[in-house]
Amino acid sequence: MNSEQLLARLVAFDTTSTRSNLALIDFVRNLLDEHAITSQLVHNDEQTCANLYATIGPDDHGGIMLSGHTDVVPTAGQDWHSDPYQLTTDDSLLFGRGACDMKGFIACVLAALPQMTATKLQTPIHLAFSYDEEIGCVGARRLVESMAGFEVKPRFGLIGEPTSMNMVLGHKGKVAYRVTVSGLSCHSAYITSGVNAVEYAADLIAFIRGMNQRVQQQLTDDSYSVPYTSFHVGNINGGTALNIVPRQCEFEFEIRNLPQQNLDALVHEIKHYAADTLLPEMQARYPDSGIRFDEISCYPGLHTDPASSVIAYTRRINPIDQIGDNVSFGTEAGLFDGIGINCLVCGPGSIDQAHKPDEFVSREQMRYCDSMIENLVHGCRETAEFG
Ligand SMILES: [Zn+2]
Repeated sequence: MNSEQLLARLVAFDTTSTRSNLALIDFVRNLLDEHAITSQLVHNDEQTCANLYATIGPDDHGGIMLSGHTDVVPTAGQDWHSDPYQLTTDDSLLFGRGACDMKGFIACVLAALPQMTATKLQTPIHLAFSYDEEIGCVGARRLVESMAGFEVKPRFGLIGEPTSMNMVLGHKGKVAYRVTVSGLSCHSAYITSGVNAVEYAADLIAFIRGMNQRVQQQLTDDSYSVPYTSFHVGNINGGTALNIVPRQCEFEFEIRNLPQQNLDALVHEIKHYAADTLLPEMQARYPDSGIRFDEISCYPGLHTDPASSVIAYTRRINPIDQIGDNVSFGTEAGLFDGIGINCLVCGPGSIDQAHKPDEFVSREQMRYCDSMIENLVHGCRETAEFG
């Protein structure tokens, strides 16, 4: 099967995040079996989703990892002109959910299996396909945990998110939290008998806003369209009626950090303000008051050194010899980078089409990606690189 035929097969699996991706993983596994490639699966707790990891070639030195996520975003509420789970084509474009984000890349990788196994590779190629990336790099986190114990890890990772085949070296990280502020309810005529959860939540939000302004002054990076670490509160919910002091208030916030900025320290500062400034005041009036932080998602940013050898290498194999701007969307690259795998992001299709109705990847982009992987396989046969 060529990459387009494989893409049609992959698109046909509805792998919307949180749904099972096992049918797709089974399909890929069978394909690998046909080429006598053994693979291992790393499941989620519920055993409904799995990451797949496989090594082709020697297993005694690093090599190159080709990585992509198998999940896609929902189509609900989107106005599609064709069945999103059936690849449709015109002269130049291939339409389907996941066409560019990012089953197109995975299809190109799988199409090269015959070349990867035709002769012995000098440099190993590793395949890493994850689940539930779109809801916060959930699967890759688990894969990375199991890879951390590997004796030999890939030296270099190519993450095939849609970058129009430009080589992208950086993106921001992100953390998201749900905060639940609990106080004490009472009649609003007697506010001193209660603890107003909405007002304490507002204090905390004002603190987060203040940090946002301060951090903007401290560190900027003009290679990002928003050139600083940004904070954002997306929703808030609290109180029942004006004449009742509200007992509970919930809100959600996120921080999208420049990879150069320490995310843990920022989160710590917010939690510290809640625990050491707000909470004692609340508990003095009502000891059972509380401020709880639940992490919704978290992934690190990516900041690959332009002088890194992985860049020079990818420039040699990529027909699009173009370093792209840093991007605003997150990827799994930062997680892999965290265990010492130098990563860059490069894949077919444009992020402009991702997550949208009538998502597509162009045939031209697929051809570029096919030829990059062909060049990569050729190089891995000839020389032992990335030891
Ligand atoms: Zn993606």
